[in-house]
Amino acid sequence: MTRKRLLTGDRPTGKGHLGHYVGSWENRVALQDEYECFFLIADLHTLTTAAEQARQVSENVRELVLDWLAVGIDPERSTIYLQSLVPEVTELFWLFACLVSVPRAQRIPTLKDVMRDLAIEEPSVGLLSYPILQAADVLMVRAEVVPVGKDQESHLELLREIARRFNRLYGEVFPESQALIGRVPTLVGTDGQAKMSKSLNNAIFLSDPPEVVEQKVRGMYTDPKRIRSTDPGTVEGNPVFIYHRAFNENREEVAELEERYRTGRVGDVEVKQRLAAALNRFLDPIRERRARYAAQPGLVDEIILSGTARARAEAQATLRLAREAVGLPYQVS
Ligand code: ATP
Ligand code: MG
Repeated sequence: MTRKRLLTGDRPTGKGHLGHYVGSWENRVALQDEYECFFLIADLHTLTTAAEQARQVSENVRELVLDWLAVGIDPERSTIYLQSLVPEVTELFWLFACLVSVPRAQRIPTLKDVMRDLAIEEPSVGLLSYPILQAADVLMVRAEVVPVGKDQESHLELLREIARRFNRLYGEVFPESQALIGRVPTLVGTDGQAKMSKSLNNAIFLSDPPEVVEQKVRGMYTDPKRIRSTDPGTVEGNPVFIYHRAFNENREEVAELEERYRTGRVGDVEVKQRLAAALNRFLDPIRERRARYAAQPGLVDEIILSGTARARAEAQATLRLAREAVGLPYQVS
């Protein structure tokens, strides 16, 4: 029986963090047997906001792949590939770009978020079309499922509009891919102000050493109304407890801390110490696997090259179908 396809990916702009894990990576790891999985290193997407940093991308590609391997993405079962080595995707992007109006592209909420976070006054045409390129990535392998964090939901809506439009105009080629949102749809950052993000300096990275995790947790935002440890505190929406619930496998400890916090019988220091310990228990096996893979020279390059060959064959097959449907005069072999 052929398995349904799954595709998702990340931009190689730095290290993976806890938000990536609960928003998307955890689902990827869990679904590797059920689906035929493609994991995309979206290097072309990094140029939308960091055009001048292209040279840094190759180091980031390595870091990203090591993070994926460390959490349990298995290159034997899944295809890991580099976007810029599959040029077919930019041709498919073009076919799709002609199906999307400019106001529709401007209505994507993440565009405003990125412009605000990175202080971009005027978006490039590339940044504006980012979600269209993403649709091309997903539809290039005709994936039906896309594990992503909640912030990406609007991109999948646009993807489905594109697929419907294409299928109606030219004939059935593409599925209407569905987002699969993670266990924690949007993980808040350590500052309690916004979603955890590399660019906002509020992230705990999967590769942070234990003492860095401890230090970041000590600095975390908690219940601002609570002054003394004998004041009753609020657990709901409190980032320290959000992380306890998301990462502390000791459910009894979490329940007990919540109860004591609500009734003013525990200090922030203890809650945070226990959180740092829980996070380090969660991260230890990830760190160990990461170190083991990092010690194997050439491994990451091999994985990328063999995965890219597989993805590219798929891309060529899809592009043939798309060109035929559109009615472009000659087929490339
Ligand atoms: P960052 O958002 O940290 O700056 P990025 O923009 O390079 O990193 P994204 O493409 O936004 O990376 O994220 C990769 C995947 O991880 C996406 O599926 C995204 O939805 C998910 N994700 C990122 N941050 C979070 C978060 N705080 N909570 C839940 N999911 C997240
Ligand atoms: Mg982001």
